[in-house]
Amino acid sequence: MSPQYPWIHENERRGYFLLTLGCPKNEVDSDLIATRLAEAGWKREVDPRAATVIVVNTCAFIAPALEESIEEVLELSDLKEETGAVLVMTGCMVARYGAKKLAELLPEVDAFLPCEAHEDLVAALEGFSQGDAAGRRGIRGSRHGGAGRARDAAPRRKLSRRGVGRTVSGTLGRGFVYVKIAEGCSRRCAFCAIPSIRGSLRSRGMDDIEEEVRHFVGEGAREVVLIAQDTTQYGLDIYGRPRLRELIERLSDLEGEFRLRVMYMHPEGLSDSVLEAMRSPRVCNYLDLPFQHVDARVLGSMGRHGDEKSHLRLLERARERLGEVAVRATFMVGFPGEDREAYAKLRRFIEVARFDWLALFGYSHEEGTPAFLLQPTVGKGVIRSRIKELSEVQEEIMREIASEQVGRDFDVLVEGRSTEAPGFWEARSWREAPEIDGVVFIRDAPVLKPGACLRVNIVSTEGIDLHGEVRE
Ligand code: SF4
Repeated sequence: MSPQYPWIHENERRGYFLLTLGCPKNEVDSDLIATRLAEAGWKREVDPRAATVIVVNTCAFIAPALEESIEEVLELSDLKEETGAVLVMTGCMVARYGAKKLAELLPEVDAFLPCEAHEDLVAALEGFSQGDAAGRRGIRGSRHGGAGRARDAAPRRKLSRRGVGRTVSGTLGRGFVYVKIAEGCSRRCAFCAIPSIRGSLRSRGMDDIEEEVRHFVGEGAREVVLIAQDTTQYGLDIYGRPRLRELIERLSDLEGEFRLRVMYMHPEGLSDSVLEAMRSPRVCNYLDLPFQHVDARVLGSMGRHGDEKSHLRLLERARERLGEVAVRATFMVGFPGEDREAYAKLRRFIEVARFDWLALFGYSHEEGTPAFLLQPTVGKGVIRSRIKELSEVQEEIMREIASEQVGRDFDVLVEGRSTEAPGFWEARSWREAPEIDGVVFIRDAPVLKPGACLRVNIVSTEGIDLHGEVRE
């Protein structure tokens, strides 16, 4: 019986709590951690107080995300004092800063686990259970928490038939699943720390992805969301050229009732052939385009290309091939060199392009990125006021677009009862991506259940959200 962690031996109390921060790519990593722990006999706890092991899957790509990760870890470390739980940190913060440095900064944390080292977690916890220092030292002291560790392609989710391989982040229970088709990124946008955190592009094999999609469709997924840092680069490393088109075509031919959605498409990588593949009725007419800016000079210093004309041309090309398209755009405000004129261009572009959904990030001066050598020229206050102004412009546009949907019919995927609007369920059509866009509210009715696909008629709006009635 280990003096330090007596409770770990008592199987019935081998409970773990897993907190996932950051993006859907981290959710996939958490699924893998949960799968491994479940296979090793650990039970997932929803209350961290009931857990003997607390795992925080961190995000660290910009300062605000880093602050949130540290806050969450410190909050849970207070709990650890009460319950005696082991506190494990994993994810991008460990990859970016390394176990050694973090161990000095955060002595509250018992172990640091690099991304994608899910096997190590189980072994480490078993190490803890033997109470041998090895387990502790094995993780804590080593550098392999940071960059430079040999990484393989995006890890596979073990597709065990016992359902243990299921997505346990809860998305499958809401009818959809994220499938990570690649890890890392080989582009080098000047503001971005992700390549230094997740390494260069590592695509998964198409057979591997197809098998995973088949598995989840078999498990009831009605929407499969393809994710990566940049999905348009998919296959470049293992097939010598981007193969997103072929992947979309292959997955579109699979049996089963499901739709495909592709996220994180770098505008410069969105080729006509990919747009052609998206004409499949299986694929949502949805484009997630991180344009980042419209001013050619600012884009140039970001290590990107294009301007408002080329962006508008891309949207035209998409509409020529796909007809009606829902577009989510992402812009960065306040990058060094963004003067009034460049900002005015960005504002005008957002007014003209009328995006269905919009994400706005304030520039974050990140160590280790090429832009860190540039002198920040836009004050934090100016960045905040520009984001506020653009958000107000976009809010108006989204309300107008919402009201234009009234009277239309949509096939929607029912996710579950709304926590926001009691007596209503939340659903999404092809126009709305999960967890980031608006929703379609449907009044409670017997026909509603998570994962159901229904046809609804849009009868009204509520801000940027829609209200739908089930078509009998
Ligand atoms: S494409 Fe995306 S992940 Fe890759 S470097 Fe650029 S911003 Fe970062």
